[in-house]
Amino acid sequence: MSDRELYCDGCEGVVLFEAPPCVDGHDADCPELVCTGCGAAVLIATFAFPAPRLHHRRRATRTPHRQAA
Ligand SMILES: [Zn+2]
Ligand SMILES: [Zn+2]
Repeated sequence: MSDRELYCDGCEGVVLFEAPPCVDGHDADCPELVCTGCGAAVLIATFAFPAPRLHHRRRATRTPHRQAA
């Protein structure tokens, strides 16, 4: 088992992620994890560069409603 706890934007909190069945043949080295809460997939890249703390963005990408004039 290679379960991890990560911050999930969908769940707005730290939830348990688990490695999905890999279709790319990575096996245990698969950098993909899936949120057990909402099913969102994330890509971890601990092998490329260590990131002790991930900056999670606040919802700043929300498109403003157009106001009908
Ligand atoms: Zn994989
Ligand atoms: Zn989630």
